[in-house]
Amino acid sequence: MTSRSHQLRCIGDGERIIPDAVSSDFRDRTTGELYEVEYPWSESSAEPAANRPNAQALRHLWAERRDSTLPIDQSGVWRYRELLPILKDDHHAVTLREGNTPLYDLPRTARLLGLDFLLAKHQGMNPTGSFKDTGMTAALSVAAERGFQWVACASTGNTSAAMAAYAARAGLRAIVFIPEGKIAWGKLSQSMDYGALTVQLQTDFDGCVKMLAELVRRHPIYLLNSVNPYRLEGQKTPAIEMCEQLDWQVPDHVIVPGGNLANGSALGKGFGELKHLGFIDRVPKISVIQAEGANPLFQWFTNAEKLLQPVTADTRATAIRIGNPASWRKAARVIEATGGWCEQASEQEIAVAKAQIGAEGIGCEPASAVTLAGLKKLHAQGRVQPGERVVLLLTGHTLKDPEYTIDFHKNLLATGVDEAEPYRKPPMVLPADEATVLRALEAEMAVTA
Ligand SMILES: *Cc1c(COP(=O)(O)O)cnc(C)c1O
Repeated sequence: MTSRSHQLRCIGDGERIIPDAVSSDFRDRTTGELYEVEYPWSESSAEPAANRPNAQALRHLWAERRDSTLPIDQSGVWRYRELLPILKDDHHAVTLREGNTPLYDLPRTARLLGLDFLLAKHQGMNPTGSFKDTGMTAALSVAAERGFQWVACASTGNTSAAMAAYAARAGLRAIVFIPEGKIAWGKLSQSMDYGALTVQLQTDFDGCVKMLAELVRRHPIYLLNSVNPYRLEGQKTPAIEMCEQLDWQVPDHVIVPGGNLANGSALGKGFGELKHLGFIDRVPKISVIQAEGANPLFQWFTNAEKLLQPVTADTRATAIRIGNPASWRKAARVIEATGGWCEQASEQEIAVAKAQIGAEGIGCEPASAVTLAGLKKLHAQGRVQPGERVVLLLTGHTLKDPEYTIDFHKNLLATGVDEAEPYRKPPMVLPADEATVLRALEAEMAVTA
């Protein structure tokens, strides 16, 4: 056999298979487990260490590409393509110039918590408003290169928005399964705007996943849920970008929300590869935070069971409303290997944390705010020290779910929670009468003076 750029390895028993022999639902027929992409230079690979990417040379090359006018160089995913050689021809990449997201500081929140500083990597600043774009550019490019006409996903909203956009760019047809009534409007509208065939099923996300498995078993449709290991190759690149933005200083702790648990898994893979290749000398702790109403991984950690017990998920942080997460084993390994933790956040804690991130002028969707809610707990438990460099991974844009924000400010969320009160800014409804308007605003200005 000729040399190949990568293969897929089953995470269950380590059995190796070649890329195209994979089953339609990306689960190994024997073990029922998922796969991950392995390169000849991966730590798990048995191949000789020759042809290992050179960290020093790549740092320079990646920095140079920032001045390039080539689409794949302008992409914050494909700029790092030497670490994700999954395409036969990189110029086949379908890109919307994803990645390149800002790393903000959160000074007021840091002060509030008694930390020296706090950073937020805002993946909501991607083309369709969530981190899913980084994974979608990778996996959809594979679908396009392999000649698929149709792609599909089950989604709590952001995966479908991303898939619909990238499919449209590539001229592929897209089928989206979403749970009826449990998806934020911004996300549903995107799927339609980008021309996907949108199917609302009268079930939850986990029910959508089952239905989709039946569909892809019968038809040549490429599955783009995060069980697809190529999604994670794109989703690992924020780890690289983060290190680059910190001048290759590794953060101490990275905190991510946990839904289907692919994101934390992917970042763990990214940091692990950077360390293995000598870009960095240690990896950050990676902690995953779930909503209390959708917390199977949190339960698994606290009960130390062998198998994950699915739950019936319920939370207004709809992006993480998942009761039976596909990538739980990968995520659990990352948390254990890096020394991170798994925590949970209540609906009230999520609402307050979201308002605090909003008050920094940044904003995010509710699922992203679990990171700050979780950080407060880890800090209180002594698991985060004041001088540590913590990065919150903000997964989605605040405009994805404006209804949630408005409900908070109308006092319909976190009602009766003292901590929430300073952040509530409901709109003032006034008659268009000069004296009344001036009186009302002058009263406000006197309060804050
Ligand atoms: C998908 C998503 C998550 C959860 O990521 P997983 O990989 O499913 O754990 C969190 N936040 C937002 C905004 C998302 O779109």
